[in-house]
Amino acid sequence: MSTVHETKLDQLEMKRAVYQLLINGERIDGSAGETFKTYNPATGEVVAEVAKATKADADKAVEAARAAFEHGKWKMWPVGRRAQVLNKIASIMRSRFNEIVELEILDTGKSLAAAQGQVMQAIEDFEFYAGAIVGHRGTVNNVPGQFHNYTEKEPVGVCAQIIPWNYPLMMAAWKIAPAIAVGCSVVVKPATLTPLTAIILGEICLEAGVPAGVVNVIPGSGREVGNHLVEHEGVDKVAFTGSTPVGKDIMGRASQTLKRVTLELGGKSPNLVFEDADITAAVDGSLFGIFYNSGQSCEARSRLYVHEDIYDAFMEQFVAKAKRLVLGNPFDKGTHVGAIIDQGQVDVIDGYVQSAKADGAEILLGGKVAQVEGYEGGFWYEPTIIAGVTHEMKAVQEEIFGPVVVVMKFKDEKEAVRLANDTEFGLGSAVWTKDGARATRIANQIKAGIVMVNCPFSAFPGTPFGGYKQSGFGRELCIETLDLYTETKSILSYYGSRPLNPFGL
Ligand code: NAP
Ligand code: MG
Repeated sequence: MSTVHETKLDQLEMKRAVYQLLINGERIDGSAGETFKTYNPATGEVVAEVAKATKADADKAVEAARAAFEHGKWKMWPVGRRAQVLNKIASIMRSRFNEIVELEILDTGKSLAAAQGQVMQAIEDFEFYAGAIVGHRGTVNNVPGQFHNYTEKEPVGVCAQIIPWNYPLMMAAWKIAPAIAVGCSVVVKPATLTPLTAIILGEICLEAGVPAGVVNVIPGSGREVGNHLVEHEGVDKVAFTGSTPVGKDIMGRASQTLKRVTLELGGKSPNLVFEDADITAAVDGSLFGIFYNSGQSCEARSRLYVHEDIYDAFMEQFVAKAKRLVLGNPFDKGTHVGAIIDQGQVDVIDGYVQSAKADGAEILLGGKVAQVEGYEGGFWYEPTIIAGVTHEMKAVQEEIFGPVVVVMKFKDEKEAVRLANDTEFGLGSAVWTKDGARATRIANQIKAGIVMVNCPFSAFPGTPFGGYKQSGFGRELCIETLDLYTETKSILSYYGSRPLNPFGL
């Protein structure tokens, strides 16, 4: 077939013969001279060659970040000046919007609409933190007379930021923007499957005026380079988004040096549709909730619970509309569902579908690898709806990370809440009802970091994003994130005219 990416990539200014590491403001090859390839999941074709960082490169990046932090001017600048640079990053991204979108699509196989939304949000993240940082400050606290106490928010230092493949640029923005806003330096480790846009973002930071060494980007293996950063004595904080098992591993390793840790992990988010819901809105929102980004979202609403009184009416529309979802050329405006990241993930998804079948579940739609005309070399999975499940099934309890939703009935609020809370995860959740009091009751009882009420979207810049339970801890995308990249220092002074003599000597 024609090489979709070649024609596209060749037109991009962002094309590089080799996408290199960014360390201390310089684009360099990996110290071992190795490279790896990145693929377009829609076609299976090679997109680009990427320099592979080694542990020695990670050391170099940490050293550069440390030097920039300890001796550099970035954290010393007036906050307004840092804000200006963050806005400049956003404006450069805006001016190259289409290019970044295209590069992201080539590297991930996601649909145009998804990529556009995510790149726009990445831009808005920088704008949000440019504003938020100006208001971020310590407090003055009440202490006995003749004492004075205030707190300072000091940047935590050098941060390792480990990024997943599902939202490569957006996750990089979620991490880099708040960290550098407060004055930290970062070493970003993008996912091996999707390193391109994070590399470009690092270059844009430099171009916008972020001093060399403040933002370093080192594509390389998670097990090797990622681990090394997590254990590194020169790293003060680790911010990780990815799978729950790796998150647990990171927390264990990071504990050896008592690093600050933020973990944004997996989910199995419930989506509750009550009998009084606007059924059409609930159907549309529930479809988006699971099939957006081909279901490769940590907050994908992958467990759908429908009140028994409207189950049949809801499901009729839900399945009928799901059949209309278009899989195909990711660059087409009309494509709803893009590719799956790689063959391994297709196998994982299919494994869960097969296990559900073996457990006696009923496949209402999909349930197999998708054949997409013109994209035979790529990785695709049909939007899949599974009914007839019980709560113990693997497909109901575990994160599938693909376009697969399990559907169940419930009979009342109490049961809905019990089922919603019955997994180890607690990231997203959604409620569809016209009854405001009920929505509030449910929101209060759900153990999850995010509750979407009659709303298909989980977040905007400014809304806290993060999990309860084994979905991790710490919140990103919001004001509170700035606290997670700072230490609070308490300055307590005495200004009385008589010297204090607490021992009475
Ligand atoms: P992952 O293995 O957790 O990888 C995420 C990031 O961590 C990647 O940059 C990876 O590098 C790195 N990494 C892997 N092992 C590491 C280690 N021992 N120490 C430090 N860093 C390490 O996730 P994945 O392989 O991308 O996806 C697997 C599953 O994770 C998915 O099926 C899904 O269930 C879940 N997931 C969740 C989210 C989310 O947002 N919650 C996002 C993505 C994936 P490499 O790329 O080099 O392996
Ligand atoms: Mg790729």
